[in-house]
Amino acid sequence: MDKNKYYTGIDYFRLIAALLIIAIHTSPLGKISDIGNFILTRVVARVAVPFFFTASGFFMLSRYDYMGKRLMKFEKRMAVLYGISILIYLPVNLINGYFRQDNLIPNLIRDILFDGTMYHLWYFPAAMVGGALALCLIRQFDYKGAFVIAGLLYFIGLFGDSYYGMTGAFMGIYKYIFQMCSYARNGIFFAPVFFVLGGFLAEQGCSLSAGKCVVGFFTSLMLMLFEALTLHGLNVQRHDSMYMFLVPCIYFLFYFLMHVQGKKIVWLKSASLIIYIIHPMIIAVLSTVSGLSGNLGVLADNFLVNFVVVSALSVLFGVLSAAAVEKSGMVKKKSPDYTDRSYVEINLDYLEHNVNVLKHAMGQECELMAVVKDEAYGHGGYEISTCLDKIGVRAYAVATIDEGIKLRKYGIRGEILILGYTMVERARELKRYNLTQTLISPEYADALNGQKIHVNAHIKIDTGMHRLGYDKTAAGAGRKAFHMKYIKVDGIFTHLCCADSARKEDIRFTHGQINGFYKLINELKRSGIAVPKIHIQSSYGLFNYSWIKCDYVRTGVALYGVKSQPRDSTKLKLDLQPVLSLKSRIILIRKLKQGDFAGYGRSFVVEKDSIIAIVPVGYGDGIPRSLSNGVGAVLINGQTAPVIGRICMDSLMVDITHIKNVLVGDMVTLISNESDTVGAADMAKKTGSISNELLCRIGARVPVIVAEKNWQ
Ligand SMILES: *Cc1c(COP(=O)(O)O)cnc(C)c1O
Repeated sequence: MDKNKYYTGIDYFRLIAALLIIAIHTSPLGKISDIGNFILTRVVARVAVPFFFTASGFFMLSRYDYMGKRLMKFEKRMAVLYGISILIYLPVNLINGYFRQDNLIPNLIRDILFDGTMYHLWYFPAAMVGGALALCLIRQFDYKGAFVIAGLLYFIGLFGDSYYGMTGAFMGIYKYIFQMCSYARNGIFFAPVFFVLGGFLAEQGCSLSAGKCVVGFFTSLMLMLFEALTLHGLNVQRHDSMYMFLVPCIYFLFYFLMHVQGKKIVWLKSASLIIYIIHPMIIAVLSTVSGLSGNLGVLADNFLVNFVVVSALSVLFGVLSAAAVEKSGMVKKKSPDYTDRSYVEINLDYLEHNVNVLKHAMGQECELMAVVKDEAYGHGGYEISTCLDKIGVRAYAVATIDEGIKLRKYGIRGEILILGYTMVERARELKRYNLTQTLISPEYADALNGQKIHVNAHIKIDTGMHRLGYDKTAAGAGRKAFHMKYIKVDGIFTHLCCADSARKEDIRFTHGQINGFYKLINELKRSGIAVPKIHIQSSYGLFNYSWIKCDYVRTGVALYGVKSQPRDSTKLKLDLQPVLSLKSRIILIRKLKQGDFAGYGRSFVVEKDSIIAIVPVGYGDGIPRSLSNGVGAVLINGQTAPVIGRICMDSLMVDITHIKNVLVGDMVTLISNESDTVGAADMAKKTGSISNELLCRIGARVPVIVAEKNWQ
């Protein structure tokens, strides 16, 4: 699904689907042709409800639904609408004697959970249960697995619905099921498969042409018709909501509707839902009215007239009330993006571009391992890693186990390597979240193995940096790790500590590291060990030693499109784009007189009358305090404005005397992904650091927003 497009086709079909549902409840062809009416209301119109489920899945389900936030929003909306609908139909229930039935309480519970307190309200519990079930399945088994399981549930449901007469020996089980719910078309057997389908189509986008979709749809519809008529003829149907060929029907129909894009029609969605909720009420009212007066009998007695009048009144009511709701402002408008303080803006097109450039530089045999430690170098761990997952990156590196667990909760697939130390007592979590632990020393490996929990690991070799890892001469200890009962060694790696340097001694040292590593690998091979995946380079290792051929390159800073230092010259010159900008807005402009002071410690003295702007970003947001008093600068209207006074925790001041037409609310760029003067590397250099540190320090309170694509 593309957030920037409006799926007008899907919205239009909501209205058609609502009318089809009215047809189911009014049998427009009832007096004209039995078979015609069966085909219209028991076959064709059966696409309507699954279509609604699929649409909900399309817009709501996502494998990246962190903490189920989107799902909860959906559930809340459905629960509120369900509650309102129950209340609306209370008078009808009263008149119909609903509350005088035997076993009222168990029946009431059953109706609220499954069947609905009115014949059409089963939709809401089915949507709530089906949506939740679908998300669980997708998170656990991915789309294919989820589809298989939801499909299996649907298959079971079929035999409680239109294939009931063929259940044979299993009839008893279904009888048991039907004590809890009256139909199989509910949130367990019916809805999940369509939700999963919707989520799947949202992730896949359109690759089938509109023409093929039409052919697919009509073929499936014909097959469904054949299926339905056969089952009808055999007299095996208990109900007629579920058919085998309904699933492909919906698949092709929805696929086709995805092609139809255009202007958004805001009221269609609410209107169709209101029509769905209200039409049985209109049916009931019409039948009462026609009973009162003989002249009006035609309104209820002539099925076709009944259908037309119910439809017209429902649509009128739906459209008017949707418009009223829209006008009243009851529906919350989307809150504006974070513009009141400072924010990180990331460009995911550039991230994708960088991935492609880096993959190309690595060659076919090597896989990109995305290093996303420390909130993806301050870029926002969720936004970056889910984008990488979407574009097919399947190997990640983090610094801590908690970062790894977070990635899994975001819905990230593939291998996740923890580069740092994890308490061995947390081995169970390593296993549970399928994380790969780095063995930082032989002693550590022993301790981890001693936990008696199966975990995957990569061995780290220290080839001269003397930080983490087995000594490069410790082939014996390395060999031992491969034979540990509870540890499965999937990889072995080292880290170069001066791959960024062009100095002769550093280059010699790096070659020493590389040779030392391969010597150990060869020793392991000679002793009969099947050497697993190996990796050496990080970003600068790739830039300067691209000839090393490994299974992975661990790219961190390169992925984000910045160099550690502004004028680092590298052997490989790659066209990488900085992903991050740090932006803020002017909240106050003031005039200062010569001799005034500004900021803490009165460290800035105004030399001539000046205009200054206050920007709500400070060292608490990651702006180094050492950029105070003219060391740092920002961009306003394309011009640089120097920082004056000391940078505060939450704000800083800049001199804008020389810039024309600056207003409160104007954008301030603190780190630019376009201009070198306030680029991350230049800014880092001024503070005596590298861009890696600067980016990581961008504070946790700075929200990350994703730059909208430029559609021109
Ligand atoms: C952080 C880290 C990386 C990534 O380094 P970049 O220079 O940002 O590419 C690679 N390997 C290890 C072991 C790391 O700790």
